Amino acid sequence: MDVHDKSTRSFNMSRIRSRDTKPEMRLRKLVWASGLRGYRTTTELPGKPDLAFTRLRIAVFVDGCFWHVCPECSDGRAPKSNTTYWTEKRRMNSERDVRQTRELRRRGWIVLRFWEHHVLKDGAGCVKIIARAIRKREKSDQRAAVSEKTGGQP
Ligand SMILES: [Zn+2]
Repeated sequence: MDVHDKSTRSFNMSRIRSRDTKPEMRLRKLVWASGLRGYRTTTELPGKPDLAFTRLRIAVFVDGCFWHVCPECSDGRAPKSNTTYWTEKRRMNSERDVRQTRELRRRGWIVLRFWEHHVLKDGAGCVKIIARAIRKREKSDQRAAVSEKTGGQP
């Protein structure tokens, strides 16, 4: 009861391969190179974030443009064969993303989700966004610890 025809299956397989390797590995390398530390790449958190800064509670996801239905990429469109199957499968993915994000936020996590194309085109920009979230969190943690103002941040 395999619903995939041959062309869809090979399309599917190529997608899975590229998903497992490229964008999230690239982001991890860039984050490491930028000197940011204190994250784990495997956790039991909802959705299994690609990076989880456990002390600061910042979760980072790289969402594949195909699987997670990117609105900006042609990659985000459903394949022409088995369109209904793919549309449904990917709709369920998107809904799960939303649920997992909501659950993490409810637990007090900052959730950053990057599209695959964003990581591939502007990885440095993604790292900046992560670094900004870290600074923000560290600042609010400091404020909680000492009630003292740190001035002058734009
Ligand atoms: Zn995209």
